[in-house]
Amino acid sequence: MAPMLLSQIHMKLSIKQLGVIAFLIFQTHCAPQAPSAQEPCGFNQNSYGQRISWKALVPVKMYIDPAFPQSFRTAIQEAMNTWNKQLGKNILSIAGERSGSKPQRDNLSVIYWYTTWDQSTQESREEQANTTIHYADNQLVEADIQVNAMNFTYSLNPSYNEVDLQSVLIHELGHVLGLKHNAEEPSVMAKRLQNGTTRRNLFAADVLNCRCEY
Ligand SMILES: [Zn+2]
Repeated sequence: MAPMLLSQIHMKLSIKQLGVIAFLIFQTHCAPQAPSAQEPCGFNQNSYGQRISWKALVPVKMYIDPAFPQSFRTAIQEAMNTWNKQLGKNILSIAGERSGSKPQRDNLSVIYWYTTWDQSTQESREEQANTTIHYADNQLVEADIQVNAMNFTYSLNPSYNEVDLQSVLIHELGHVLGLKHNAEEPSVMAKRLQNGTTRRNLFAADVLNCRCEY
């Protein structure tokens, strides 16, 4: 009888110990801990200072709204190729045409062409395009590009009074990837693009910044 009793006590102890270990592991993994801030690298950052990007969810698949003129769609592919080639990986791709979507949170990233545009402020009227991003924590989940075709005339080969669509899209795709405006160094993320000029290649800063996340 005695050895059996000992063995029973031993087992109970082991189970107790296991319980404590399991609890400790649970504590370690679940204790709320503020994430540490990261170098900006030109990216938008969340309230913890973490860079907001697509992480492993690349290539980003972007749809094209039917209103986007067929004759201008090559500029979308060319602008994506610029990022993909110069970063040496496929991070942006066209998913096809998508009708009925709106530039709001619907988990679809879409490129829109608008012939009507908010005219209420000078800032809005001077906006060639804009990009809205949606994210959770530090993970981008959606990005919508809107091109202002009301106040600007676009071209694939611009004369002095036209805007180079490919250059604009390279800039907006930078926002899609999570980049902010860059006023400090030569960059496709400079806020302004003059009529009649092109900016179709990434600068060193753009590539370096992107390498922090992609
Ligand atoms: Zn911008």
